[in-house]
Amino acid sequence: MAEPRDDMTPFEAVTFFFDAVADQVGLDDQTHAVLAGTYREIRVQIALRRDNGSVETLYGYRVQHNGARGPYKGGVRYHPHADLEEVRALAALMTWKTALVDVPFGGAKGGISVDPTSLSMTERERMTRRFMGQVSYIVGVNRDIMAPDMNTNAQTMAWMMDAYGQRVGHTPAIVTGKPVALGGSLGREAATGRGVVMVLDELMRDDNRQPSEQTLAIQGFGNVGSWTARLASEQGYRIVAVSDVGGAITSSAGLDIEHLVAHARESGSVVDFPGSEPLDPDELLTLDVDVLIPAALGEVITKSNADRVRARYIIEAANNPTTPVADRMLADAGVTIVPDILANAGGVTVSYFEWTQNIQQFSWDESRVNDELGRHMRSAYRQVRDYADAQGCDLRHSAFAIAVQRVADAAHLRGYV
Ligand code: GLU
Repeated sequence: MAEPRDDMTPFEAVTFFFDAVADQVGLDDQTHAVLAGTYREIRVQIALRRDNGSVETLYGYRVQHNGARGPYKGGVRYHPHADLEEVRALAALMTWKTALVDVPFGGAKGGISVDPTSLSMTERERMTRRFMGQVSYIVGVNRDIMAPDMNTNAQTMAWMMDAYGQRVGHTPAIVTGKPVALGGSLGREAATGRGVVMVLDELMRDDNRQPSEQTLAIQGFGNVGSWTARLASEQGYRIVAVSDVGGAITSSAGLDIEHLVAHARESGSVVDFPGSEPLDPDELLTLDVDVLIPAALGEVITKSNADRVRARYIIEAANNPTTPVADRMLADAGVTIVPDILANAGGVTVSYFEWTQNIQQFSWDESRVNDELGRHMRSAYRQVRDYADAQGCDLRHSAFAIAVQRVADAAHLRGYV
């Protein structure tokens, strides 16, 4: 097997994980080439009028990776690092993710290279509407459906839906992760975190570990991190450290997550939470805990810190948090990693439920959403675990092999290759 380099770009890293299973899945060279590349990539200029009257030139991206299994699907992030290379990597991950949890979508991702904290609410709205206008030619209910990701949320989706609707008429299924009042699904906001905890529960059950005896460290306290923390603490896990952009905190007795969520909402950060101690954010990744959950940026577990990771399990709630070199080091050290395409697939799974509800003009109650989410997540986990056990490979290898096989089958059936 090829050796990973430590200077890989995000797309090279995702391609490395894909290449690692190509032989096992028996991909011929032509199918390999079709699945490795992206279908369409666009960069759009967004001339943003600031509140003070000046105009700033921003760039946004949408990459459609593979549509063999259904319409392109994936979020849009607002972040200074969101460039074509990163968005391309995230689009490919969406193809493998939707295939793995078996929802009838392909993979896509979008982003605007911008520091959203520098924008007022009205500037965000103008930027979002302009972006939707620019990509409206390539999205569609049966073509490409956008959703929230880093620094975007239900409000962002409401503006996108409205901007699209002004062009083509009311079309709720054009985006998912909308506010419930505009056709969003109950349970969508918590879905990624809920899926993370469902997978964690399955893993602990398989390994005969009691939730109440497990300590967790969670990097990131945005939508995914905070819901993961809330739902994990409800199941009895002890969350001993969390971080956000403001800093990190720890408590060996376990953080009171309900109060922490309120504190973060009021003060804007987890820092200074009463009863906790401050922690160096870099140290969170190397704490002596049972389970480490990166739930923020990509490429945080790297060659430079992987040898200091002391967790027994890593659950990748973030996309692409572990570089291929770190992945290899951790595998050698006996750390079990639940890969992003399985661990964080709960979000896009409930996006699929939202899309179907919109198309049928019918809404499900929350217990139905959560039951169906559990069915998809547990079944995907079981398949990944069983394949890994049968083949003697790690969970990432297993997840990619299953996903790549499904996409290759669909591509063959359509006659792409
Ligand atoms: N942004 C989320 C992800 O990375 C959700 C995408 C979606 O719902 O389409 O999986």
